[in-house]
Amino acid sequence: MLSLIKLPRVFTINQVPKVFHEDSIISGYRHPHSSATDCVLSLFQLTNETLNIWTHFLPTWYFLWKLLTVVLMQDVWHDAYTWPLLVFLLSACMYPLASSCAHTFSTMSARARHVCFFFDYGALSFYSLGSAITYSAYVIPERWVNSTFHLYYIPIAVFNTVVCTALACYSRLGLPFLQYNHDIIKRFPECNSPKLGKILRILAFAYPYLFDNIPVFYRIFVCTGEGCTDNETNTLHYHHTVLAFLTAFLFATHLPERLAPGRFDYIGHSHQLFHVCGIIGTHFQMQAIETDMSLRRAWLLAQAPPITFANTVGASLLSVGLSLIVIYVFSLALYWNPAKKSRRSRKPKTPSGSSN
Ligand SMILES: [Zn+2]
Repeated sequence: MLSLIKLPRVFTINQVPKVFHEDSIISGYRHPHSSATDCVLSLFQLTNETLNIWTHFLPTWYFLWKLLTVVLMQDVWHDAYTWPLLVFLLSACMYPLASSCAHTFSTMSARARHVCFFFDYGALSFYSLGSAITYSAYVIPERWVNSTFHLYYIPIAVFNTVVCTALACYSRLGLPFLQYNHDIIKRFPECNSPKLGKILRILAFAYPYLFDNIPVFYRIFVCTGEGCTDNETNTLHYHHTVLAFLTAFLFATHLPERLAPGRFDYIGHSHQLFHVCGIIGTHFQMQAIETDMSLRRAWLLAQAPPITFANTVGASLLSVGLSLIVIYVFSLALYWNPAKKSRRSRKPKTPSGSSN
């Protein structure tokens, strides 16, 4: 069947505009103005994006299955203790889904590429908040329960998601309207320093990750004595932490393709490994969260602040709403055409006052 469909041809790095270039990836580029159909067809054709798409598309279904299992097996409507887990699992479905969609449709045009990845960053921000909400409910060490840090942890995490989405979007093109618009879509942060955009993007995700994980780092690396919640979940938290640092390392270094440009264009380049490590890390994180959730249930229900709609679903809705506003502003600037606008405003008025 597939042999009857003519698959689109692929290109080398010199045949596509600079905005589509990936560090040390020489071939396997799709057409920079692919149709939506061609983008979907590219799932079944080996390009330099194919495994980027599948390594996040398949895990979406795994986390969706986990989410449905919780919804069907537990009394989620009446048991507020399950709500943080639901938010986390929803965020763990959303970020690989948004990423696989972004990788699929990012070659429709330069503007579409930016918008696609703006949504990808928004979904990652939501995932970081999902992690914070579960850490606050199930993972925080006994010693910190009801502390000032615990009280402000979720509000700060919500604030961080907005900063993270905005900074990640900024890292692509700069400030909307002021530094880019419909006519100017060159990478503004990279004009002054070539790697600034990449550094800003790493910072945009490293900062909320490090903040969200303060309770985990304290629990497994620093805390000694009573109240440290030193249980069997700690091993899973270690696994997740190691994979998170490996994920960041792959994203930052572009290894292995930087050592042999062109050799890993289709299989084995850093972005695919980054996706795989991220997903395995999320899997361990989910296991750690579920284990802490069930082991500590009685103690947390008796001692911790109550889990409410506001500090779970409400915080998520606020964060997603704010991130969508940020994405809207950054996307709108891509379609804003100041030349056209000023031409229209210079047009002389007719005596009747009508412009046409
Ligand atoms: Zn990706």
